Amino acid sequence: MKRYELLIDGKAVATADHFAVHDPATGAVVGECPVATRADLDAAVAAARRAFPLWSAVPDAERKAAVNRMADVIHAHMEELAELLTREQGKPLNGMGSRFELHGAEGWARHTASLDLPVEVIQDDAKGRVELHRKPLGVVGSITPWNFPVLIAIWHVVPAIRAGNTVVIKPSPYTPLSTIRLVELLNTVLPAGVLNVVAGRDDLGQMISEHDGIQKLVFTGSSATGRRVMRTAADTLKRVTLELGGNDAGIVLPDADPEAIAEKLFWGAFINNGQTCAALKRLYVPDALYDRVCDALVRYAAGVAMGNGLDEANILGPIQNRMQFDKVTALVEDARTRGGRILCGGAAPEGPGLFYPVTIVADVTDGMRIVDEEQFGPVLPVIRYHDVEDAIARANASENGLGGSAWSADVDRARAVAGRLECGTAWVNNHGAIRPDAPFGGVKASGIGVEFGRQGLEEYTSIQVVHQ
Ligand code: NAD
Repeated sequence: MKRYELLIDGKAVATADHFAVHDPATGAVVGECPVATRADLDAAVAAARRAFPLWSAVPDAERKAAVNRMADVIHAHMEELAELLTREQGKPLNGMGSRFELHGAEGWARHTASLDLPVEVIQDDAKGRVELHRKPLGVVGSITPWNFPVLIAIWHVVPAIRAGNTVVIKPSPYTPLSTIRLVELLNTVLPAGVLNVVAGRDDLGQMISEHDGIQKLVFTGSSATGRRVMRTAADTLKRVTLELGGNDAGIVLPDADPEAIAEKLFWGAFINNGQTCAALKRLYVPDALYDRVCDALVRYAAGVAMGNGLDEANILGPIQNRMQFDKVTALVEDARTRGGRILCGGAAPEGPGLFYPVTIVADVTDGMRIVDEEQFGPVLPVIRYHDVEDAIARANASENGLGGSAWSADVDRARAVAGRLECGTAWVNNHGAIRPDAPFGGVKASGIGVEFGRQGLEEYTSIQVVHQ
């Protein structure tokens, strides 16, 4: 079994302490994760600080070329990375699983390489010239979750590096290995110190948040941890981008065709086993369509194969970790005892793997845990409504505001409802689609700032205005 090491200043660094990373499909040990000490973190930050003056001075065209080389490396090692990702995260190779995630990582890197940060001219006349420049910030600390470890690492690291910053990344203790391997590979095409990886337990995230050698934090994870990160980062006045939890609502309008929308509704909710920040987590359906929408979803679910992700036949895998598995189990049991009708799933099979079947729960409503809390698992509560205005109000009565959707045969009607949802991204007859040129981020407790596109890139810069 492989023992992984940190990567600091272009060199592998062994640690004294390690812990085992388990395959959620089998319980087998995938590899051993290094545990970085405070001294290791200091060394990583020092390396990134040393690399910053050189990297930030590299001409833009060269930095773009370097980011394209990062994309090339991902492309060349796609199968190796996908397999490691499947083994530690659980998501299947196939379907919208590991290969899908790796393709996304390559695509996001390439798009980000193509972005520009042009000088904006604010004034240019006989009285003078005023220019707005975008400058890199310094060392960026990146803290990532376990649901899309490679893709989210790329979302953090690539724009930071593209803009001229240097990075210290810390993956989730549940899924550190694919990130460590990714960083090793990316270091073959980057100068030493530009991208460093430290790994360990949650306390390492706290150390990163408080580190005075880091100028900006980009954090993706739960709203609870995001609040702690922001509080800690305040002492050193770090800039923060926070991509946090979601409890996205979808509203089916009375003229929708249940059979026509079932597939997109299903994958909006169950992509990555529901372990997706902007998955559909509450579905509001009008009385008149309620049974037909439930039936169509259950029928679609019956054709979706779940099992060990290394088997190409499967397109859903296990829940990633025991804590999340227990949370999903508890939410479904709570719904059942409060009158929820389990239309499919609802009980995990015996076995070493953390498999929880696709579960659709009817006759539940706001005020129940399964509706009010982010399930972050393969569970969708379907909530009945009588009046669209009421459905919109209930959709918005959440502390979260990541995504939302409206579904109708009349696109304009759905567009009008979607626009009234309090969320960073609103979809019409779809849920969860993202793209590298469209900014993505949450409102309310779902986050601060955006990723992707020019606006996402700008978050890794400060403004300098030059008057001449
Ligand atoms: P989490 O908050 O438990 O952990 C995220 C990361 O924070 C991990 O690397 C963890 O080690 C680290 N961490 C833990 N305690 C810390 C502390 N005190 N200070 C600094 N870092 C600390 O989240 P998770 O369970 O890994 O991920 C699931 C959550 O992430 C869900 O709520 C999901 O919606 C959210 N998420 C959001 C987005 C988005 O773009 N908005 C994307 C993916 C996941």
